[in-house]
Order: sequence, then C-alpha cells, then structure tokens
Amino acid sequence: MHNPVLNCNIAIVGGGTAGLALATQLRRQGVDDVVILERETEAGGVPRHCGHFPFGLREFKRIYKGPDYARENLRRAIKAGVDVRTSTTVIALHPGARLSLSTAQGSHDLQAQRVVLCTGVRESSRAQRFIGGQRPTGVISTGALQSMVYLHHRRPFKRPVILGTELVSFSAIMTCRHMGMKPVAMIEQNSRITVRQIMRPFPAIKGVPIKFNVQDLRIIGDKTVQAIQYTDINGDAQTIETDGVIVTGGFRPEAALLHASHIEVDPDTGGPVVDQYNRTSDSSYFCTGNLLRPVETSSWCWHEAVETASRIAADLKSPIGACETVCLQSDDPAIRFVMPQRLAMTDAPFAMKTMQIRLNTPAIGHLTAISAGKPIWGDFIQSRPERRILAPLSPVLKARPTSPVLLKIIGHI
Ligand SMILES: Cc1cc2nc3c(=O)[nH]c(=O)nc-3n(C[C@H](O)[C@H](O)[C@H](O)COP(=O)(O)OP(=O)(O)OC[C@H]3O[C@@H](n4cnc5c(N)ncnc54)[C@H](O)[C@@H]3O)c2cc1C
Repeated sequence: MHNPVLNCNIAIVGGGTAGLALATQLRRQGVDDVVILERETEAGGVPRHCGHFPFGLREFKRIYKGPDYARENLRRAIKAGVDVRTSTTVIALHPGARLSLSTAQGSHDLQAQRVVLCTGVRESSRAQRFIGGQRPTGVISTGALQSMVYLHHRRPFKRPVILGTELVSFSAIMTCRHMGMKPVAMIEQNSRITVRQIMRPFPAIKGVPIKFNVQDLRIIGDKTVQAIQYTDINGDAQTIETDGVIVTGGFRPEAALLHASHIEVDPDTGGPVVDQYNRTSDSSYFCTGNLLRPVETSSWCWHEAVETASRIAADLKSPIGACETVCLQSDDPAIRFVMPQRLAMTDAPFAMKTMQIRLNTPAIGHLTAISAGKPIWGDFIQSRPERRILAPLSPVLKARPTSPVLLKIIGHI
C-alpha cells in the first residue's frame, strides 16, 4: 500500500546553514508552508560539530562557536514559522518538485511548488585521493574527527598527521588540541600552504611542523596506523611515526542525490548547473549553499541563501519559466570552474550580481569573457587555487550574448 503524498509550498533539502537561513528569509518575505527536510536528528549542518570560533559575526554581529551558531540559525527558523523535520532523508528527486522521503514512519512522497537543494559539501575520502599503502583503521576526515570530538567526546588517536593545508586543516589542529591530541606533522604536496600565507606561522605556534613537497604518500599499519612514508623534494624516503591520519579538505559537493536524478550536474563544480537565479535544469528545483560549488564559509553560504530567498519568492509570484539561455563556461586549463554555468536571457529581478570562479593553477592575466569570438568583458586578475574570484555578471548580460560565453585568462603567466 502507498503512503499518501504530502504537500507543501517550498521543500528545502538539508537543514544546515544555507537551508535554515533560506527558510527563515522566505518566511520573512511572506512565503508560507516552508518545510526543511534534514536527515540528522538535529538541524544545523556542519557548524554543529565545529566546536570553535568564529561563526556569525557578519550575520548576527556577534561571535559564536559552531554549535551555538547552528542553534541560533535553528532558533530563528522556528521563530519565523519554518516546519523543520529531522530524521527525514530525501532519497530521490523526481521531475516537477516531487521528492521521495525516508522517515522513521516509513517512505513518503512529497509534492512541493519549489524544491531547494542545500545538501552542502563533504571532504574527499582517502580512496578519492589515491593514497597508497595499507588500509588500517584510524584514517578519518576532519568532519568525522569533529563529530567524534565535539558530538561524542571521543579521542580516536593521540599523535595524528594532518594531510592538507586548507583552512579546514588548520581547524583540525584546533579540534585535536581540544581533546589533548598532538598532531606530529602537517603534510602538503605543494611547496606552499593552500590557505593564505598569513596562516603560515599558526602550525609552528601550535608545535606542528609542515612537510612540503611530499610525494608518493603511503600509510603503514596492519590493523592500526603506525606510520606514514613519503618521498621528499630530494627524492629521499621519509617516515613519520603516527597513530592516525586526518585527511582534510579536497571538498566536493554532497551531490549523490543529483547524480541519481534527472537534474544536470556540472562536472567542474560537482554541483548542479544553475542560472543566475539559482534555478537548476528543472526550473522547479533551486540550489544554494555549498552544494553550488566547493567551498565557501558558513557566513558566505548564509548570505547567499538569504539572497536566493528573494529569487524564489519572486519566482513563486511570477514564474520565470522557460526562457532562452546561453552557457557560461571555460576551456582554459587554468580555470577550474565558473558558477552560474547558464545565463537566462530575462530581466527578472534579484539575479546574482557576480559569477564565482576558481583556478586550477596560480594565474596572472586578463580574465576575459568571449562570445561569438568577441570579448564582451575583461579585467586583470592575479590569484591562486582555492581563492574566491568574483566577476560582474551585468556587463556579460548587457551584451545579450546569443552564443556560449567562454572565460579565458589572456596573457596568462
Ligand atoms: C568538515 C568540514 C568542516 C568545515 N569547517 C568550517 C568552519 O570551520 N568554518 C566555516 O565557515 N565553514 C566550514 N565548513 C564549510 C561548511 O560547508 C559551511 O560552514 C556551511 O555549513 C555550509 O552550509 P550548507 O547549508 O551549504 O551545508 P551544511 O551545513 O553541510 O548542511 C547540509 C545539510 O544537508 C543535510 N543533508 C544532506 N543530504 C541530505 C538528504 N539526502 N536528505 C536530508 N538532508 C540531507 C546534511 O545532514 C546537512 O545538515 C566546513 C565544512 C566541512 C565539510
């Protein structure tokens, strides 16, 4: 026997920072029947297990630890009248804003006017990074470490190594110290840290050396981790004794639902293809937060979600519907991705003001948008991988391109 189909106006998949901020703002704009579907037992998303400062300064004008910030987002959503349903996993996306849900009460379908996908990002696993060696226990992501430490008060090891030098790798140092773990090294395959150089002294202050130019990394240990081995810049084999490995960063959108659905996925961001109104290839589905692209801070996702709410509220009143679109893309090897990936040729209000770009390699040159062989916008850039690059969308839209817009870095050094 089939369970009855549930109905709502807006269904939001994922009750993290973006889902909660979006839902609250939709309610404040007068949109009713807004439902959040969250698979965990509590809403709040990743900040729930980031037991450190600083969260919330730009949003709430005060500084919170992650779990307090998550609670504040949830409190505001409930106060605004959002229906937050936890322990509810969305298991399939169907055309026309219809979802399949799995709950403790069984399986249901839910029919909404609009669905917003806010499932965030996750770190790449050991397997996705092709790290060699044996396969002992004690190799975990920062997210798993944070969840063990802050949610379950467990100490998985005492002297781990940290693989990576992204911002989250630095947060892994803080998480370790919270529980009395002493990382023995940070491991970086490049010749400099991934985050800005201003962070360079931080590991040394905390007594953690950074090993640069690490190649051919292998994990050693039969049942539990005993060491890592690698080749250094001189080609010499090195060994570091350790009892755990924290595999940090390498973020990718949490897009399993998308891959199993009818919605178009961008291989470059790993998230859905969207236009400047956050609409996916099925215009009843929107997306916001880190599922759009890896990876931004909570504060960024919060503000992005608040802006997305205006687009969805406007679309409910006066649907943009099907309209002419052109692709926004890049075949420049220095450019890793661009978002949005599609431009809707409409003057509907509240469009994104900027496109977001990331690089594969450091680049200095003239970032140029070209359509039908002609430059329609350009500006000088000097940037590195993992840095946020924003470029204005309005000059590109004003040019009313009729063929794909290609981004290139001209004079690239
Ligand atoms: C390990 C890790 C550490 C981080 N540390 C920081 C930090 O210190 N500071 C910072 O600013 N940012 C940090 N980030 C970035 C983080 O992504 C943002 O802070 C912010 O949480 C993004 O909000 P979001 O709503 O897009 O995603 P999330 O907060 O991740 O929320 C996504 C939600 O969707 C739910 N969900 C996923 N799939 C389903 C489904 N099928 N059905 C129902 N629910 C589903 C998840 O349970 C989750 O609650 C970190 C990210 C990770 C992965």
